[in-house]
Amino acid sequence: AALARIERQNPQLGAFLSVQSEEALRQAREVDGRRSRGEPLGPLAGVPIGLKDSLCAVGAPATAASAILTRRAGPGEPERDHARGWHPPYDATTVARLRAAGAIFPGKCNQDEFAMGSSNENSAFTPARNPWDPERIPGGSSGGSAVAVAARMTPGSLGSDTGGSIRQPAALTGVVGVKPTYGRVSRYGLIAFASSLDQVGPFATDVRGAARLLEVIAGHDPRDATSLAAPVGAYEAACDRDVAGLRIGVPEEYFAEGLEPGVGTAVRAALDGLRGLGCEVRPIHLAHTRYAVATYYIVATAEASSNLSRFDGVRFGLREEGRDGDLRGMYGRSRDLGFGPEVKRRIMLGTYVLSTGYYDAYYLRAQKVRTLIRRDFEEVFRDVDVVAAPVAPTTAFKLGEKSRDPLSMYLADVYTLPASLAGLPALSVPCGLSTPEGGSVALPVGLQLIGPSLHEERLFTLASAWE
Ligand code: GLN
Repeated sequence: AALARIERQNPQLGAFLSVQSEEALRQAREVDGRRSRGEPLGPLAGVPIGLKDSLCAVGAPATAASAILTRRAGPGEPERDHARGWHPPYDATTVARLRAAGAIFPGKCNQDEFAMGSSNENSAFTPARNPWDPERIPGGSSGGSAVAVAARMTPGSLGSDTGGSIRQPAALTGVVGVKPTYGRVSRYGLIAFASSLDQVGPFATDVRGAARLLEVIAGHDPRDATSLAAPVGAYEAACDRDVAGLRIGVPEEYFAEGLEPGVGTAVRAALDGLRGLGCEVRPIHLAHTRYAVATYYIVATAEASSNLSRFDGVRFGLREEGRDGDLRGMYGRSRDLGFGPEVKRRIMLGTYVLSTGYYDAYYLRAQKVRTLIRRDFEEVFRDVDVVAAPVAPTTAFKLGEKSRDPLSMYLADVYTLPASLAGLPALSVPCGLSTPEGGSVALPVGLQLIGPSLHEERLFTLASAWE
């Protein structure tokens, strides 16, 4: 059924870059066999799960939606084809854990190239489109993973969130998306963007589904040096807990200029709803919020410039000979043809902020401000249990609306970046609809819940009470 829905909807929506139907059917038969033999079944037995393309899974290409991870087109071959992508020889830890739980992988989901973007328009292959209005973006970078779930092609999927890439597309497509605490989920086998921020997390149609997925993928992994040893919480059970008495802090800085009026209204209505369930809702301040965009785009680009140096035409994917047949020319040409414009922009920015003479002024300073942003949260979590806010300042915008102005695209991340910089768990749960100015279709709005480090349970409790 999932394959049939993908076949029907994917040509219009671009959620999947490639579909491994034979492999998926083989996995399904395997689960079936186990069931008919009366063998124990995992918590995700037979459930189709979409995988962001930047996650390595044996049996499928992984390109992070970049041409640099594809083989060059031969004569008569189409210019861009995911099927010519790099084949990873191993599973990401998250993928291995889903596999062991019985999940089935129908295909690899579209994204912004190397997870850099907020609209999925930076994919080297094709943009993904929002099923609520295909003229609009689904958000990014994990846009394809969100669309797969929003259009009910798969009941769940995995994405990655560095600065909002799970929460924002979840909000813009009306599904649930969770960014776990930094270190809660293994990054092993996730093609890296900014290693101090990257986290893998689930999308699902409902809160309980997301809780089950997180419970399966979370937990210590010796293959990721930043993986935490803390025991995994009972996330699914947390969905049934009572919310009465929980203290919710609402940061005034998150209701600033640029917030679409309908988004503010929907989020405030959700807060009223939670108040009705016995929660205490009070205003708080996160004073350094206004530095989050600048801080993030220094730290993330610095780390990206280092992580992406491995794509040199030698070890993976695309190789283009230099004009003079020399090594440096080969590096240059391969990277010039392999990387898209946003990725190049970030490598340039990141190299600049790390360079001698500018390191102290930009990178070091950004690290200090990052600490201040983290402390803001530590302080408010002395008085409240959860922070609640919008996920994004607007509903889904039109394709092409921001893609020519990188800065306006960066500003769309203003509400998701602080939790990323602080390493905190955060989720997006649908909380109503808003019609953007000049729009004719009402579009989904997400409520963001941010918790203290390793307190994902609290977020699931509140989100499922609201849902
Ligand atoms: N939109 C942000 C960026 O472009 C966040 C992306 C992400 O979380 N991967 O960097």
